[in-house]
Amino acid sequence: MTSLRLRGGRVIDPAAAHPDAVRDLGVCGGRIVELPAGAAADQEIDAAGCIVMAGGIDMHTHIGGGKVNLARMLMVEDHRTGGDPFALPDNPLELPSCGGCTPGTLATGYRYVEMGYTAAFEPAMVAGNARHAHMEMGDVPILDHGAYVMLGNDELFLQLLHEGGAKGTNFAAIRDYVAWTIRATKAMGVKVVNPGGISAFKFNQRKLDVDEPHLHWQVTPRAVVHTLARALRELGVPHPLHIHGSNLGVAGNIASTLETIQALEGLPAHLTHVQFHAYGNDGPKKFSSAALQLAEAVNANPQVSIDVGQIMFGQTVTASGDTMRQHAQSALANPRKWVGADIELDAGCGVVPFRYREQSYVNALQWVIGLELFLLVRNPWQVVLTTDHPNGGPFTSYPHLIRLLMDRAFREEQLAKLHPEVAANCALRSIARELTLAEIAVMTRAGPARLLGLTDRGHLGAGAAADIAVYREQWDREAMFRTPERVFKDGVEVARGGGIVAVPTGGTHFVEPGYDPAIENVLRRHAKARGTLNFDHVAIGRDELCACCNGGRLLPAACFGAGA
Ligand SMILES: [Zn+2]
Ligand SMILES: [Zn+2]
Repeated sequence: MTSLRLRGGRVIDPAAAHPDAVRDLGVCGGRIVELPAGAAADQEIDAAGCIVMAGGIDMHTHIGGGKVNLARMLMVEDHRTGGDPFALPDNPLELPSCGGCTPGTLATGYRYVEMGYTAAFEPAMVAGNARHAHMEMGDVPILDHGAYVMLGNDELFLQLLHEGGAKGTNFAAIRDYVAWTIRATKAMGVKVVNPGGISAFKFNQRKLDVDEPHLHWQVTPRAVVHTLARALRELGVPHPLHIHGSNLGVAGNIASTLETIQALEGLPAHLTHVQFHAYGNDGPKKFSSAALQLAEAVNANPQVSIDVGQIMFGQTVTASGDTMRQHAQSALANPRKWVGADIELDAGCGVVPFRYREQSYVNALQWVIGLELFLLVRNPWQVVLTTDHPNGGPFTSYPHLIRLLMDRAFREEQLAKLHPEVAANCALRSIARELTLAEIAVMTRAGPARLLGLTDRGHLGAGAAADIAVYREQWDREAMFRTPERVFKDGVEVARGGGIVAVPTGGTHFVEPGYDPAIENVLRRHAKARGTLNFDHVAIGRDELCACCNGGRLLPAACFGAGA
């Protein structure tokens, strides 16, 4: 087994006793090891003048499954070029599997790894489409991956919730159903999208607020959120409920977002792409930042984490399970085309292209709100860096976003280009905070690893996977994070100076909570009466998962003690 010593780099490892120290890092057998100071290693790499971090982990990025594929098909113009959808690449070899806002699977893996990321999680896997999602992620090279399965708008869940009534008398059955679904789809967690609202849309409701009953099932988003959060807690699934709240993108939706946090009654949860959920309705345009209110709620609720879903200016395409809200936004599509779709009525899907503009009042304010959220939440372990790729912008914009957060002068320069009323009046102007390298390391690797229960990722302690990014330290943080000098995946060098040098297959993270098999009788009856799939063919076994994922390693994460 060959060993490697990365010598004399500045190691930023927020989970370590000394989170910022110039030291050597040893690697052997794909893992971080303690190499005795004098011992020779088979390979020595000089990392002096470099920042060494664990590989980046994107815990919310749409990279696998039906929505992203529909987005790729809808945005054909994006695939004629390697990056900017309206420019031709210098190198024609970049043409296959290209795309700026929805890159193909190969480009997705390469572009992430070239930036020092080594894992990415698909947040909105539809249960009926889980095989496709795993196959698509299996086609993404190098990156480890996993997915959250969507629940809370499927007919059986809503029916069970309705039957249990206000007292939730059948909660155990719902918990078993949640566990069965996670296991059958080989998911890493559960995402609820517009709780109950996607289903309500199918019954012709066009909005559903936190305490508004679903017309048919008479259940509220509050009950949906609380029941799912409780089920995951009791099942010991490490990643708590991943919540895409009610009223995405609606002016004044901060009230719904704060009510959603209330609905948890202290249960842990992760609120996703909160930039789209932190809008007030003050001011002349009845659209204002509510970042401070949301940040105060997150600061007061340490069991709640968020990712931001920062918007970035330029062309992108939004791909969401939230059919209700995407239908409402479709009138703003740019270019003017969109897709709405469904499978088995277990969730939803809407794909709408957007072009975010600096001179649009709304877009400029969205940009400001995202940055305010990053800078106003005090504890970086509660905030994850995302653009909700591709919804707020493509993941390739992360280095630019990092510089905005670390460099106030650069932020002011960008702010001055925005719609003048936003630039002149926003609270962001007076926020002096500049995030440190350690805080960026928390938001891009250590934090997401902890929130997902990945004990051997996101840090560089002995025994951790040797997923490592080595960046040449530069004052221009965008340039620094754009092109790491070297990237290692499980100890294998996979990128050097912005080029891919090896293409191993990534592994799949998933959890397998336990359940009472009696629930399968209920599921079988439901599938027979209402479904189109044979129930016996629904669940994905471990062998099949391995085949779906291109032979990548299976990386099951442990559930913590049930009943906590
Ligand atoms: Zn979402
Ligand atoms: Zn998303």
